Amino acid sequence: MPKRPDDVQRPWIVKRDSKNNQPKKTAGKDWGDMSSFYNSSRWRAIRNYFLKRNPLCVYCKNKDIIKPAEVIDHRVPIKQGGEMYNELNLQALCKRCHDKKSRSEQTTIIYNRYTMRR
Ligand SMILES: [Zn+2]
Repeated sequence: MPKRPDDVQRPWIVKRDSKNNQPKKTAGKDWGDMSSFYNSSRWRAIRNYFLKRNPLCVYCKNKDIIKPAEVIDHRVPIKQGGEMYNELNLQALCKRCHDKKSRSEQTTIIYNRYTMRR
């Protein structure tokens, strides 16, 4: 008797968690602790390189304020799928602008969670 094709494996089909409809790629990864990433030598090298080429805070520059950048920020946060080593996803900010941006990001995430539930 030939087997029924029910248990044929289809590895090209991305299995999704039935509870939250997230692709497995991000679901298994824990982004809770980012300190190992920010302490990695690769990140520090990119950070130093980027700061040398972009020594001024871009947010302040937009407001005609010249302020030295202290932080390299990810335009799209890594937690939201942003590329961590892609220069196009980086921007130089002063600490104040970075804190401001981080705060508004948290508000956005909370807002999204709230609207998604409805
Ligand atoms: Zn600034």
